[in-house]
Amino acid sequence: MIGRRFPAFGLATAISICLLSLPANAADRPELALPLACDPRATCFIQNFVDLDPGPGVRDYACGAATYEGHSGVDFRVLSAASTASGVPVLAAANGVVKGRRDGVADIFMRDNKVVGGIKGRECGNGVLLDHGNGWETQYCHLKQGSISVAEGQTVTQGDRLGDVGYSGKADFAHVHFSVRHDGKVIDPFLPDAVDGACRKDSKAAGLWKPEVSAKIAYKSGEIIGAGFAGGPPSLDGLEKDHANVVPALADAPALIFYGRFINLRGGDRLRVVIDGPGGSFTEELTEPLDRNKATYMTFAGKKRTIRAWPPGRYQGRVEIVRDGAVIATRVAETTIVAP
Ligand SMILES: [Zn+2]
Repeated sequence: MIGRRFPAFGLATAISICLLSLPANAADRPELALPLACDPRATCFIQNFVDLDPGPGVRDYACGAATYEGHSGVDFRVLSAASTASGVPVLAAANGVVKGRRDGVADIFMRDNKVVGGIKGRECGNGVLLDHGNGWETQYCHLKQGSISVAEGQTVTQGDRLGDVGYSGKADFAHVHFSVRHDGKVIDPFLPDAVDGACRKDSKAAGLWKPEVSAKIAYKSGEIIGAGFAGGPPSLDGLEKDHANVVPALADAPALIFYGRFINLRGGDRLRVVIDGPGGSFTEELTEPLDRNKATYMTFAGKKRTIRAWPPGRYQGRVEIVRDGAVIATRVAETTIVAP
């Protein structure tokens, strides 16, 4: 069923109601669980927050820029489209009743979708809308085609499966777009009392999240979502499709590189890649400062093979985000090269 009684699902609507409401009555607020089954900062990451800036600029709740113009929800991403193959459940964030649902929209990255206007009015893709009472609603977008497992009017309990994470509708990476509304107005679940687009740099508040969830998804700007060895440079687009699909780092590989995948980097950030091989230092590189913020990014360092084979043994790679001279994130990985 496409578009059957599915209110307020258009992106245009979402943008027009970007102005945030006055603080909602604290007593009747839902306490939210994570809207998908994943391990935050290992198998899922927050790619975008709500845009609190009512004007043309962007501002997330912690006064950063991990959002985009008019973004009306929180994007919980998984590592790649391939991650969704086995089914990552999207879960009811609170008890409620299914107010709307849509299925039947194909999982295709926007940039691969050549049909102009093909998703007009269906930007949310396959989705579910829940009514939690007292004017509170949550919405879940970009679910996998054919995965919606609830019917309109059905009562759901917090944690119930609604469907699976996908990339239907207006999506360029596999994720669930989760939005919260009160009396039809967008609420930032991290800062529900935000007034007139004010953010909070020191925000430690739990927002609407259950305390144990809040602790796992505390604000971070600049994250390493993946790192590893490869026998040739991966592409950022290729990794969005399958994060494991890289040229294997074998003894006869044309190159030996270590790469890192990043989200929400800031202009000025530098990235360091270090590889230590069986004989000691193999390579080390520090990039120039980024010229602007990067929502997603990939970098790598390594060498092209000019010898018969890479020396066998254990290799260790490390990537770092360097901000204002300090390392703010690190990720290491190892591989063993076996003699051919
Ligand atoms: Zn979104």
